[in-house]
Amino acid sequence: MFEFCDVALPVPLDIVFTYAVPDGMQPVVGGRVLVPFRQQRMSGVVTELHERKPEVRTKNLIRVLDPEPVLDQPLLRLGKWIADYYLAPVGEVFRTMLPLGAEFKRAISYRITEEGQLALHLAGMSGSSARSQKTPEDQLAEFRALDYLAERDTTREESLRSATRVSKALLGGMVRKKWIAREDLSEAQNAARTVKVALLKNVDGKLNANQRTLTDTLAAAGGKLPVDTLQSLELPRTSLATLVKRGMVEISEEAAEFTMSQLKARPNLFDFQFNSAQQAALKSIREQVGATKFAGMLLHGITGSGKTAIYLAAMRSVLEAGRSAILLVPEIGLTPAVAADLHQLFGEEVAILHSALSDKERAEQWHRIKRGDARIVVGTRSAVFAPVSDLALVIVDEEQDPSYKQEEMPRYHARDVAVMRAKMADAVVVLGSATPSLESYFNAKKHKYTLLELPDRVEKRPLPEVEIIDMRQEFQETGSEQVISRKLAEEIKERLEKKEQVMVLLNRRGYSPVVLCRACGKTLECKNCAIAMTHHKRSRRMECHYCGYTAPVPKACIHCGSEYVYFLGTGSEKLEELLHGMFPQARIGRLDRDTVRGREDFERALNALDEGELDLLVGTQMIAKGHDIHGVTLVGVVGADMALGFPDFRAAERTFQLLTQVAGRAGRGQTPGKVVLQTYFPGHYAVQYAAQHDFTGFYEKELRFRSWMHYPPYSALANVLVRSNKMDEALRWSGILGKWFEQTRHEGIRVLGPAAAPIVRLKQDYRHHFVVKSASREKLNALLRAMLAFAAQQKIPRTQLIVDVDAVWLM
Ligand SMILES: [Zn+2]
Ligand SMILES: [Zn+2]
Repeated sequence: MFEFCDVALPVPLDIVFTYAVPDGMQPVVGGRVLVPFRQQRMSGVVTELHERKPEVRTKNLIRVLDPEPVLDQPLLRLGKWIADYYLAPVGEVFRTMLPLGAEFKRAISYRITEEGQLALHLAGMSGSSARSQKTPEDQLAEFRALDYLAERDTTREESLRSATRVSKALLGGMVRKKWIAREDLSEAQNAARTVKVALLKNVDGKLNANQRTLTDTLAAAGGKLPVDTLQSLELPRTSLATLVKRGMVEISEEAAEFTMSQLKARPNLFDFQFNSAQQAALKSIREQVGATKFAGMLLHGITGSGKTAIYLAAMRSVLEAGRSAILLVPEIGLTPAVAADLHQLFGEEVAILHSALSDKERAEQWHRIKRGDARIVVGTRSAVFAPVSDLALVIVDEEQDPSYKQEEMPRYHARDVAVMRAKMADAVVVLGSATPSLESYFNAKKHKYTLLELPDRVEKRPLPEVEIIDMRQEFQETGSEQVISRKLAEEIKERLEKKEQVMVLLNRRGYSPVVLCRACGKTLECKNCAIAMTHHKRSRRMECHYCGYTAPVPKACIHCGSEYVYFLGTGSEKLEELLHGMFPQARIGRLDRDTVRGREDFERALNALDEGELDLLVGTQMIAKGHDIHGVTLVGVVGADMALGFPDFRAAERTFQLLTQVAGRAGRGQTPGKVVLQTYFPGHYAVQYAAQHDFTGFYEKELRFRSWMHYPPYSALANVLVRSNKMDEALRWSGILGKWFEQTRHEGIRVLGPAAAPIVRLKQDYRHHFVVKSASREKLNALLRAMLAFAAQQKIPRTQLIVDVDAVWLM
């Protein structure tokens, strides 16, 4: 028996914590335990059992939550690698890897102490007394809470807060003053989802019409139905209650079944007609999988070349061999239709993980995978941690997609974690894309990955012709700023007359992106961010696209009161309106985050297009993502090159990828497609190469630029961001770190900064940053680790210092 165990807790500290193991408890490495931590209970993962007595006094474990590991050795190793590589606290990494939050119930209570009683008594005697630093509202809230607690025993935090509207911060302060005592009784709970079902018993006696409807409905369904279904009949609730009271209906709880998808799958999914390039790619993936050692492969297939069919066939052979596979897809890619297809293909052997699942559903899927019931896992970013055993194949579809990068702690990149996971499991990783990231393409060129190419579209459909429209010239010739060029308008008209379909991309949602005052020249900025607010006409409000803050539409300038406020620029909402005006007969739909709330909306809009219920679809980058809609013969690009003006070294790469993807939407059916690409940067190589469908040309040019500038893939890069809601604090901290970087100059490391971040204020935080680059990742990480240690000494809170290794977003 071991006396001590080290536990990784989900707190922003780069250490593990040692606890004593009481007699009779048997924690396991990789299993969860419940522990006391700073007046709280937390669940953490055991990383080691040992006999080394720590110098400080240890607390006891409260409970062992898992008799068996929830993270097996390979996943523990992977988690430690992530913590090390991304400089993230290992406890935060493990929490991200385990979607089991639903199995832990927070239960915090408070009770009043003698000191609290006294304070309340004194306050009663002297009116609203003492404590002058606090605002009167805060004081009142404190005494409301004391009053409330004085009349009760221990009270749950939720009840206390909803009854007295006291903030968490105030409660913390009251605990420190010893007015109240905090008790944490958080516990593991059974997270199984249940449904209430109604069972029909003996019906006798007189029933009214509503009661009769209920018993008839139940009888027709074989005597048993979910209560929800009965309630959807919209009868008075008392009808069912009366039947229960009279013993004619019984209500019980049953385990809920998981519905993968409500939709019908498309027929003939496995009737793949593979062309020779597809056959060759599939053969080579199968061979590598058979070799049971690590191999990385980059499947570079142009848009419409049939990559998905290869993934599915490869996964099927893995399943037939009795092994496991994981397929990662971008955030928006996992629509209900895709889920239905997968369910049809793999039956109960597939588990689907995505962000629309509830915590309980996620936990349920996780357990199905862990038990080995599902050996094919399809999911977004965090599915890379699925607890499959005997992993043979990991596929990352659209590997360049930014949704694979987690932009919160731990800031990992799921594609890179997928590669490492495959490496640790002697499995094969396949990265698929029409527009691979520079990093992956570079690795393939260096023979770290095998390059598999699909150079042709299925059935030899030609790639669309791309015509570039120089919008500066359009301005000169028409004498005014145009949203839709004469050429694009003419082409749209022609297609609509021929009953063909059109897509128009404008990668900016809302109506107008800028509100400008002509009197004082100022714009309307978000109160939390240094970002102009966007006008949304239909919802009649201003919205910040970075933090979600909304405000009423201004009638006058908020700075000077002038009424000369102008709404400038065009977003997708305004584009839709413009097109309605130009083509009043056309049926027009729009696809952006304002019209799409969930995956169902997304799919509905695409289905409407596919079934010919729409003539024209307007949208943001959402419309560019891999859908196969055969009727679209024209794609207009109205705004996709805005990013080229951003101070971000990946701007050209992103623009190239977006243009290539949206161009790929044209001509996927029998009629050849055309793309009209409007741009203010007609000479830019990202635009030129995208127009020529010349991937290699773009990569070679871009790689030269990266090499000159010492950017990835030629060096490892980290963005170090210092943030605070106080302007002087952010500045002071970045100054302290700036000096430290200067004094600890290291061979082979470049530090740029401190500088104000391109978005200097975001979500109320002022932001300064450093960009740190080195050809040696070891050197880079060693320096960053030393910097974190120094920052801790200087009392810069870890939460205010973001280290983003392999950052994809430098704004
Ligand atoms: Zn003004
Ligand atoms: Zn904002």
